[in-house]
Formats: sequence, C-alpha cells, structure tokens
Amino acid sequence: MQTSSHVLVLNCGSSSLKFAIIDPRDGRELLSGIGESLGESAPCIRWKCGDTKAQESLESNAGHTEVIQFLVGQILSQQPALKEHLAAIGHRVVHGGEKFSHSVLIDQAVINAIQECSALAPLHNPAHLLGIDAASRAFPDLPQIAVFDTAFHQSMPRHAYIYALPYSLYRDHGLRRYGMHGTSHRFVTERAAEILNLPLNEVNLISAHLGNGASITAVKNGQSVDTSMGLTPLEGLVMGTRSGDVDPGLLMHLGNHLGFSIDKINNLLNKQSGLQGISELSNDCRELEQAAEQGHSGALLALEIFCYRLAKYIASYYAPLGEVDALVFTGGIGENSSLIRQKVMEYLGGLGYRLVPERNLQARFGEEGAISADDTPMTLVIPTNEEWVIARDAAALVPPDRPCHDALTRE
Ligand code: ADP
Repeated sequence: MQTSSHVLVLNCGSSSLKFAIIDPRDGRELLSGIGESLGESAPCIRWKCGDTKAQESLESNAGHTEVIQFLVGQILSQQPALKEHLAAIGHRVVHGGEKFSHSVLIDQAVINAIQECSALAPLHNPAHLLGIDAASRAFPDLPQIAVFDTAFHQSMPRHAYIYALPYSLYRDHGLRRYGMHGTSHRFVTERAAEILNLPLNEVNLISAHLGNGASITAVKNGQSVDTSMGLTPLEGLVMGTRSGDVDPGLLMHLGNHLGFSIDKINNLLNKQSGLQGISELSNDCRELEQAAEQGHSGALLALEIFCYRLAKYIASYYAPLGEVDALVFTGGIGENSSLIRQKVMEYLGGLGYRLVPERNLQARFGEEGAISADDTPMTLVIPTNEEWVIARDAAALVPPDRPCHDALTRE
C-alpha cells in the first residue's frame, strides 16, 4: 500500500532556510529546523525531531544547497521512514506579483515568473529560487509546489490596491499595493469561519497578524479586500524594526536636509524604526513589556504607539466591511500579548469592543479562544500555522496520476 503522505515545507530567506516535515491532514510537525547565517563565516543548522534536538556547524559560506544536502544526507538518512513518506515539497514564496492568486505546481514557467517578481522582493525571491533549485536536485521525483504570501490579497479591488500616483507607474512597472502575510491571514480566516460556524464565503473579519512584521487584513466573504502592507512589507502598522506608514515627504526631508542616501533611508525605515526606534531599547515586545513595567519611558511610548496605530487601522476597516463577524489576533504578539490586546481594545471602546480579562489572560501560548465580553463585538485569538497551509496546498496540488495522491488527499 502506498503510504507517502507528508510534505517537506521550505521557507528560504536571504541568509536562512527553515524546514519542516508536516502531515497535511492534521498539521502535525514531524521534523523542524533552521539553517542560519548562510553565506557567512559561521553558518549552522539546528533541528528538532520528536523530543530530540540537535545542532551542527556547517562549512564556512555554506548556503541553501548545503542545508538541503545536510537535511538529506545527515538528518533524513537517520530517519528513513520520514524520507520514504515524503510526497511533495511546499515552498513559501514571498512575492507572486499579479501572476499568482493561488498556489501552483512549480514548472519552468513558474520559476521564470518568480524570477520576474524578484524586483518586488529582492531579498526573498532570489533565495526562494535557490531553495527550489536545491530541492529539485535533492528530491528529483517529488512534485514542488509554490505558496505565495501575496496570493490571498489578489482579491483586493482596484480602489484598494492602486496608489494615488501617476497611473502609468502601475501600468508600466506594476507599482501597486500587493500585501503580504497572506498565508497566515488565510489560515486564520478559515479557522475563524469554523469557530464561528459560518460558511467561508460568508465570513467578514479583521485579521491582525502581529509578529516582528505586522499586517492587518479586511476579509469580506472569506476574501481579502484590503490589507495594510503595500508594494513592500514596509507600509502599514508599526512593526519590530519597520516604521510602517510615514509621510512620504519625510523621505525627501531626510535626503535634502539631512543628507541621507537612499541606502541609509532604507536601513532607517526597515531596520532602525518601529518598536526598536521609538523605544531605543528593543524590537522585542516581551522585552518592552518588561521594561514598561519598570517605567521605561521609551518602552511605554513604543507600546502605546503600536496599539494606537493598530486600533486606527482596525476602525478604518469598518469602511470596506460594513459588518464584522470577528476581530482576530494572531502572530507572536497577537497570540501572546494580553497587554497589547487589552490596550487595542480600550482604544476601540467607542465601537463597543470590550474584553473579559480572564479570557484575555487565558488565550496565550498556543491557546485559541474568544476574549470579548458576551454581546460585544467578537474578538478571537487564533494561533497561526502557515506551514500547515503550505503543506495542505502542496498535498492538494500533487498531480492525480502520482501514486501518493490518494494517501495525501484522504481525510
Ligand atoms: P516573526 O514575524 O519573526 O515570525 P513572531 O510571530 O514569532 O515573529 O513574533 C515575534 C514577536 O512576538 C516578538 O516581538 C516577541 O516579543 C512577541 N512575543 C512572543 N511571545 C510573547 C509574549 N508572551 N508576550 C508578548 N510578546 C510576545
């Protein structure tokens, strides 16, 4: 009997490669790990299989190919059952431009299209292509599937994604709002529909994914109709080290009056701003909460601005949605920080939001739950699981003529 039923999920960043073997039927993680500091002097790989954790140094300058070779040659060779049960490889791809509104089986045309979108995600898409190439060589018999961060937002209407710039910039160069974190927003949308017992195509949500990167999405009838990230992940909410929305005039001022180069402005907005920039302490919400408790004024201000700006976005999404079935918090901060959730909901009191403190404290560390008071707008905490979405999409796209297809798609 054919038993291949697991998916290797790969998430290639510019200097890291995260991997996981997932059972797409229930999201169970059988192996997970990360190769870090790739292309640098001291790269290493860490992994976890069951209760066993291990790590090894890699050769200086080792890259994505070497991590996959290590995965196959060292880790999976000791776990032959894991390798035998692999049926597909799912790749997270940050930018699919306007070409991809769904996940796809990778062929040469898809590779070319990912390459063409590289200008829109210069740090990520080239790394994804390295991962796709290395995985295709290491697993030549397995289908490879691309799952795009931008795909869920392709349903946005034109009035939500066109910037108020000369239209030719969109027509000739594709400069528009694309949005990111789509895989996470899609996961919580599907889960919220289940929790609320509503058909997916009838659910209206505001989904706040709050991690180091943060974005918020208005979901109408199960589809994204607006989102806070734009052409790049810099637009929108305050993030760990990213500024989110600023006056574009500020950039001219930095250049013309303070002599900043484009590279310096890029670094400032992406790496030195957000929670880190305001607090002058840390980009890490947990650390800021601890410092705020001791009265650190930078930490207090950073958390306040983070919550205020988030609350303003939430309120603004009543415009595209009209009726909202639930506000959903997810991502490392959304899933764990009862303080952030409490502050945001205080700002939203005028819209009727109110939480129950005990429910808010309980919905942490992986616990899903409703935190709102009865008869107030429904507010949910839903731990996200992007790897599971990638594994499910990969499983669904395994060609029907492949022997593993039935085992993969069986409930
Ligand atoms: P990434 O975008 O890198 O995937 P995560 O989704 O893991 O990030 O979120 C990381 C953020 O979550 C950090 O700011 C971290 O401090 C915050 N976080 C994690 N656990 C807690 C917690 N218990 N309380 C407050 N913040 C938390």
